[in-house]
Amino acid sequence: RVVSAAPASPNEEAIERALRPKLLQEYVGQAKVREQLEIFIGAARKRREALDHVLLFGPPGLGKTTLSHIVAAELGVNLRQTSGPVLEKPKDLAALLTNLEPNDVLFIDEIHRLSPVVEEILYPALEDYQIDIMIGEGPAARSIKLDLQPFTLVGATTRAGMLTNPLRDRFGIVARLEFYTAEELTLIVTRSAGLLNAPIDPDGAFEIARRSRGTPRIANRLLRRVRDYADVKGDGRITQSIAHKALAMLDVDPEGFDLMDRKLLEAVIHRFDGGPVGLDNIGASIGEESGTIEDVIEPYLIQQGYLQRTPRGRIATLAAYRHLGVTAPSSRSA
Ligand code: ADP
Repeated sequence: RVVSAAPASPNEEAIERALRPKLLQEYVGQAKVREQLEIFIGAARKRREALDHVLLFGPPGLGKTTLSHIVAAELGVNLRQTSGPVLEKPKDLAALLTNLEPNDVLFIDEIHRLSPVVEEILYPALEDYQIDIMIGEGPAARSIKLDLQPFTLVGATTRAGMLTNPLRDRFGIVARLEFYTAEELTLIVTRSAGLLNAPIDPDGAFEIARRSRGTPRIANRLLRRVRDYADVKGDGRITQSIAHKALAMLDVDPEGFDLMDRKLLEAVIHRFDGGPVGLDNIGASIGEESGTIEDVIEPYLIQQGYLQRTPRGRIATLAAYRHLGVTAPSSRSA
């Protein structure tokens, strides 16, 4: 996939870090989440307390990691960063927790992938800033309680539904990140182009923005590819026409759908008569894991009204038929 939603390489990650806004002020869009955080962060600062635990959920690339860094910066505390699958043993988490300074932020990405034994020691940590750890082995083993500094957990997940109830209940602030509008993404593309010293026309920025699947990470990635194209095929300036040609070369279609999006819609329409069809069947048909389809590919197609989620499976809408230039069966054209 040319334009997947996850960071592709260490080099890409470095560029991503450089493009990351540092303060709430610079964080584009997500007005509701920003307003809430501004108030809660202000209150925590005023009382010199730790901010309540924050759960951020939404598809990859929408700015969860960025927001966790901003929360720490706005609170004026350190950020410690880890992820669910990295924390294999309780002692991995205990080591992180016991090293926190007062009111620090601990960011756990992919928090739905914590192992149950690790999650277990997180509960008292979140509730009472305490952990129980085992000392010694065999018959001499005993558990001792350790006090922790007050801290804020920021958890990120692609699907809030994958969290266990006891874990979800321990977050005081739960925020869902939404896809960005083309206007918001235009601001992000323009700002990023400035940081990359890439001359860009407003029309060029908008063309990239509206074809970025509502996702800042994809917008920034397409910007870099279009810049390459402008450097080689043009005079370096990103115009609308250059953006248009570069995106066509990258197989990003006029709606901003990429190869996988089209493959999915084609499969539902041509192999499953437009659905309803279950995720596993779609996955087997296009060679993609059903989890990836659910987390990465389908949310944007659903939000844009090309795919519908029903209890019996996914259905292609008339817009999907139209987009692929296929005539819908008469049962659907009503
Ligand atoms: P996630 O953690 O949700 O996968 P990230 O926080 O890593 O997403 O964001 C991906 C990239 O998109 C970052 O490099 C960041 O520069 C950019 N980005 C995300 N949200 C915003 C935003 N609201 N304003 C500006 N840039 C953003």
